[in-house]
Amino acid sequence: MACPKKKTSHRKQHQRRAKWIAFLPNLAKCSNCGEPYISHNACISCGYYNGREYVKALPRKKQKATA
Ligand SMILES: [Zn+2]
Repeated sequence: MACPKKKTSHRKQHQRRAKWIAFLPNLAKCSNCGEPYISHNACISCGYYNGREYVKALPRKKQKATA
């Protein structure tokens, strides 16, 4: 079995773990409704992908007007 030759220093350990950060997915604008959607995925708000409806999108719940 492979055995590490040297102990990983605290600095190297932190440098490696620093890469584990949350990232935002690439967002594109929907050609059908104009809402931002995750590229290479069907639009969440209208269910369209590449100009065709693939997923029946659920009707959005109307927000209650707070007066
Ligand atoms: Zn859309």
